[in-house]
Amino acid sequence: MPMDWHGRLAERRAAGLYRRRRTVSDGQSVSQIVDGRRLLTFCSNDYLGLAADPRLSETLRQAAKRYGVGSGAAHLINGHSVAHHALEEALADFVGAERALLFSTGYMANLGVLSALLKAGDTVIQDKLNHASLIDGARLSQARLKRYRHNDMASLQRALRNATGDMLIASDGVFSMDGDVAPIRQLQDLAEQNDALLMIDDAHGFGVLGEQGRGSVNAAAAQTPIYMATLGKAIGVAGAFVAGSSDLIEILIQDARSYVYTTAMPAALAEASCASLSILKQEQWRRDHLQDLIQYFRQEAARLALTIMPSSTPIQPVLLGEAETALAWSQALEQQGILVTAIRPPTVPKGQARLRITFSANHQTHHVERLLAALANCQKILSL
Ligand SMILES: *Cc1c(COP(=O)(O)O)cnc(C)c1O
Repeated sequence: MPMDWHGRLAERRAAGLYRRRRTVSDGQSVSQIVDGRRLLTFCSNDYLGLAADPRLSETLRQAAKRYGVGSGAAHLINGHSVAHHALEEALADFVGAERALLFSTGYMANLGVLSALLKAGDTVIQDKLNHASLIDGARLSQARLKRYRHNDMASLQRALRNATGDMLIASDGVFSMDGDVAPIRQLQDLAEQNDALLMIDDAHGFGVLGEQGRGSVNAAAAQTPIYMATLGKAIGVAGAFVAGSSDLIEILIQDARSYVYTTAMPAALAEASCASLSILKQEQWRRDHLQDLIQYFRQEAARLALTIMPSSTPIQPVLLGEAETALAWSQALEQQGILVTAIRPPTVPKGQARLRITFSANHQTHHVERLLAALANCQKILSL
């Protein structure tokens, strides 16, 4: 056998790093049937609780009547519909950019942006904890990839000092596994001082932070030439967009291979995203309620002496250390009817395995109370 798949899988299992899927038989909500069992869930990125909103389902149904299901072709052929165009205009307007461009997923948006803008000889400088898609985009671009210590501006400055070619700094706006926020104003200053471009991936900030949910750049009263966010998290649908100047968008339309060589997202989904955008702007209560849940959880988790992280966002990890420990806690929670996934290496650094708890505007205080009681039980059962 040329490749020992069986041995490779066995190694994974032995290291406590084996991943498996669960099968959900109903929609996204805080209470789901998972592998046939009803669980209270704290792991979705559906932060505003819109993924199963009946108004969006109805919009989707109506839009499918008009546009059908498939988009049939890429945007540059005949797959670009008025629904896509309207969503791009609404998104650009919302985040205060000249234009926006839709991608089918956030992963593809990041691959497309970095590989289109950078070439061999350029330097892309990234936070150590950036999302995998930004790292993969950098690799694909063939530019030199440098990584600075998480949110450490001195470390970023050192990386900038011996960079070559055109420079692009990329950072998550909200870090997906830690929940903390990037120092966006400082990133903007350093980028400007060094004549570098700044790109913020706001997958977890868009819809949640800033005025009416305009995102982490808006919350920081900053501006960035390249803003990327996804439509599968707070928006509750699927896809992603990049916002910036008209020239940036035109370059991406020409050269972003993950834009050019792929089928457009279904137009009906674009219309559902458009509907979600107007709901999330108007329904400030969703963000206010989320903040209340976050405050409450943090206060009570600190009382239990759990190791929480400096996060003010709906991502509230509980740090546990070894992969096996995180797995044991996750299993103990599941036995108590609660689903929180264990996040293990390589998604997070070795020794920093954790429970990644996320909150949704659909959670109620009593749900958080149940979670805290279950975590307290885990402490009793699992700490020797
Ligand atoms: C989820 C995520 C992505 C990928 O977006 P998809 O639409 O799920 O492909 C990119 N960046 C960050 C920071 C993310 O959390």
